[in-house]
Amino acid sequence: MKVVVATHNAHKVAELQRILGAALPGLELLPYDGPAPVEDGGTFVANALIKARAAAAHTGLPAIADDSGVSVDALGGAPGVDSAHYSGERDYAANLRLVLTNLGDEPNRAAQFTCAAALVDPHDRDSTGAEYEHIELGIWPGTIAHEPAGGGGFGYDPIFIPEGYSITSAELSADEKNAISHRGRAFAALARVLAERYGAA
Ligand code: IMP
Repeated sequence: MKVVVATHNAHKVAELQRILGAALPGLELLPYDGPAPVEDGGTFVANALIKARAAAAHTGLPAIADDSGVSVDALGGAPGVDSAHYSGERDYAANLRLVLTNLGDEPNRAAQFTCAAALVDPHDRDSTGAEYEHIELGIWPGTIAHEPAGGGGFGYDPIFIPEGYSITSAELSADEKNAISHRGRAFAALARVLAERYGAA
C-alpha cells in the first residue's frame, strides 16, 4: 500500500514515519516532491486539504498531509495558521522569540498545538466525481514558557509546556512526544482510517 506524504518538512516526515509505521507495518510512505501549493485556506483543515489534494492530483496516489501550528490564547489565537512564518521568516528561533516578546509577562499563557491530518484518495470517487476526503483533528493543550528550554523537537517545542508537565515538549523524547502530541493524536486516528480502508494493518 503506497501513500504519498505531502510535506517538504523533513522533521514532519520523520515524525510521521514513526507514528504511522508503528500502526501500519504494510504501509509504504513516499515523500512528495512535486510543486508545493499555496496554503491560503485560512484554517488548519483547509490547508491540510489543499496540500493532500495537490499531492494526490500530482501523483495519482492516495495522499496524506497535515497542517499544524500553535495558537496562543492571549495573542488572539496567533501564530495559528501563520506558525511557520510568524516573524516573516521561516526561522524557528525568530518565530518563538516573537511569541515570547508579544506575550511579555502576560499571566495567561494558555496555548494549544493543533494538527489537521487529511487523507485524499483519487481512486475513490463518488457519483459526482468528488474524491474521497477525510480529516482528523488533534489538539494538544499546554502553556507558553517564559524562556526556551530543551534541544529536541522543532519549531515552538522549546517554549511549549504540555498540560500535566513541567518541562517543554523539546525536553521530551521523540517517542514521548509522538504518544501525546497533536500530530500523534491526529495521525493515530488517521492510521485507524487507513487500516480500515486499505487493510494495511
Ligand atoms: P505547517 O508546516 O504549515 O504545518 O506549519 C507548521 C508550523 O507550526 C511549523 O513550522 C512549526 O513552527 C509549528 N509546529 C507545528 N507542529 C509543531 C510541533 O510539534 N512542535 C513545534 N512546532 C510545531
